[in-house]
Amino acid sequence: GDGAHVPVLVIGTGYGGSVAALRLAQAGVDVHMVEMGMAWDTPGPDGKIFVNTKSPDFRAYWLRTRTKQPISNFLGFPIDKDVPRYTGILDAEEFGGIIVYQGRGVGGGSLVNGGMAVTPKRENFGGVLPSVNPDEMYSTYYPRANAELGVNNVDPAWWETVDCYQYARVGRKHAQRSNFAFTLVPNVYDMNYMKQEAAGTATKSAVDGEILYGNNYGKKSLQKTYLAKARATGRVQISTLHRVTSVSPSGSSYRVVIEQLNTDGSIAATKAVTADRVFFSAGSVGTSKLLTKLKATGALPNLNGEVGKGWGDNGNVMVGRANHLWDPTGAVQTSIPTAGIDNWAAGGAFAEVAPIPTGIETWASFYLSITKNPNRAQFTWNASANKVDLNWQTAWKQPSIDMAKSIFDKINAKEGTIYRTDLFGVYKIWGDHLTYHPLGGAVLNKATDNYGRLAGYSGLYVMDGSLIPGNTSVNPFVTITALAERNIERIIATDL
Ligand code: FAD
Repeated sequence: GDGAHVPVLVIGTGYGGSVAALRLAQAGVDVHMVEMGMAWDTPGPDGKIFVNTKSPDFRAYWLRTRTKQPISNFLGFPIDKDVPRYTGILDAEEFGGIIVYQGRGVGGGSLVNGGMAVTPKRENFGGVLPSVNPDEMYSTYYPRANAELGVNNVDPAWWETVDCYQYARVGRKHAQRSNFAFTLVPNVYDMNYMKQEAAGTATKSAVDGEILYGNNYGKKSLQKTYLAKARATGRVQISTLHRVTSVSPSGSSYRVVIEQLNTDGSIAATKAVTADRVFFSAGSVGTSKLLTKLKATGALPNLNGEVGKGWGDNGNVMVGRANHLWDPTGAVQTSIPTAGIDNWAAGGAFAEVAPIPTGIETWASFYLSITKNPNRAQFTWNASANKVDLNWQTAWKQPSIDMAKSIFDKINAKEGTIYRTDLFGVYKIWGDHLTYHPLGGAVLNKATDNYGRLAGYSGLYVMDGSLIPGNTSVNPFVTITALAERNIERIIATDL
């Protein structure tokens, strides 16, 4: 409540925040987590907590009156539709040159993401986190993160035969015919549950398109892993629909200003609490926006000049290919991706073979590529508009397109196929307007020390994807989790 004092306040309940909360609580510290999104623990009017990708409703989007689907068109027709404005689960946050998709609610991005749980190849780690010792990451913190997140692998024999992965097998066939390395990748979706739903012995979930707007059954989101364990300590409380707007020094602790939100986004109340330590775990965009504003407006003037810098999109770019009529990808596609085409070393691209879970045959192969895009953007405070801007330009995706083409131009030439031009507009091949993987903005060993302690203030920490300078070479959440495990262990040992 208003005026309260807490030892530790954690802003955000995504991967970084959940690791911090669990480990601090296990060390005997009381933790209060503040989450702007909803709890997502109560069924809606249809008896389900989450809605599937085929029928987005009020639950789907964060404070929008129209859906903003990543694939916006199909066969030339726009597929977005009006929805009531509500504190829904997926935020399509628009900056000048890019839309950044993020999860909102207890569990952050773990609520909405594809669950692909990929540890970077060790040879690429130096390019991911140059100031971190790879030995300790690969011997201790990556294994710890994988175990706590519940990472598991699809049964290859089952994957070879089941209808719902036909799209992935078509992806493999085309990759291998063009001599690209193709790998099955781990996931946090419970693969035994998926076997059951595909066989018709459990309620359909992944095979019914549950993913982007939450998953009701098989996905091990943070609510089922780190946060369940954290709550079980009895030391962690979470305030939902509460958004932190300010952190500033107050004596030997910090004054934190928090807005309580109604589900239409209006402000129900404004509160102030004090905290001895504050962890910024609001995600790359959330943490960067807060720190950029607080430095510029004088609340935290001693933050250094690295705040807001080094932001990247993990080189995300989407594309569809049009397959021949004799090469269908399947009407029923599980929404959980399990495979990727690895052309990182030669072409700078790792392409996830992604589903289009529409329920009808599309004859499309769809890919989300992670590329070695070198461009980095900066957050700045826009005083006249009273908001934080990001200077990413759409044209900065061109290196990503070129790297993705290193895979798909070759596959198209070999297969005698072409790109789909109907998925992102009318005659638009590349989904170059968005990212699912925001990273950076408060980079490790630059805006913070080498363990996430913010420069200029003792007791302020960053613990989320904003520490990572823009690219992880694969999907990011395992690296965000492992880095948080490394940093919190040091912070608990030396700061408490
Ligand atoms: P987040 O998980 O973003 O958590 C931050 C939390 O802070 C959020 O809950 C947010 O609501 C809250 N918050 C923000 N600002 C405030 C504030 N001011 N006050 C209070 N609370 C606040 N990654 C993978 O590795 N594999 C995948 O398959 C994958 N698929 C994805 C698919 C989609 C559609 C999306 C959107 C992302 C995907 N990702 C995937 C990315 C992954 O989810 C993110 O990298 C990850 O969630 C980032 O973790 P984080 O701890 O940095 O922050």
